[in-house]
Amino acid sequence: MREKPLWIIRKPHELITEGDIRAAFQQLRPNEKQKFLCLRENASRPFTNMSEAFAENSFSISDSTTNGSPIHGLFILHSRFNHSCIPNCKVPTTNEKVIASFATRDIVADEEITFCYNIDFECRTTHERHQALRFVCDCKACLVDTPFHQLSDIRRRFLRGLQYLTRGVDLNGQRQTSASSIIVDSKLRNSASLSLLD
Ligand SMILES: [Zn+2]
Repeated sequence: MREKPLWIIRKPHELITEGDIRAAFQQLRPNEKQKFLCLRENASRPFTNMSEAFAENSFSISDSTTNGSPIHGLFILHSRFNHSCIPNCKVPTTNEKVIASFATRDIVADEEITFCYNIDFECRTTHERHQALRFVCDCKACLVDTPFHQLSDIRRRFLRGLQYLTRGVDLNGQRQTSASSIIVDSKLRNSASLSLLD
């Protein structure tokens, strides 16, 4: 499924103001304004301001004119899908102003289509994922005290370690301190950090 944004804002996320969003909104055609005004927080109450509505319904994208700097687009349709840590669909990062979603496995009739809201969740444990999401996900990988959940967290820690070994830095671009290391073996951790210098 491909979707064009209702509008885009060429600014880092933290610098986007209510004024930027109001200006973008004013450029819309009446039927497009109506679509934006129909947005509801968790499908219940109207948003208290436009910034909130934009934050909850936007995707980070980039196009060839931004030299890789992120821009943000408001995507009404793709924002309707729920998150899962074991999704059946993916929205790859794009270098166009259009986003597209793809099934990553067979989806049976009546099964909910979900995708993962954060690109690094394959390397994050349940607690870390919930902190980033700011809501409690209840997918199968997040149901604690089940064998599936335990295996899921072990696999994600393992992937994070493998990523550290191949990149020489952790998810946040930092070296791991000995106090909170993903790779416990100091010899292995040191060689991963040194690989960054090669
Ligand atoms: Zn989950």
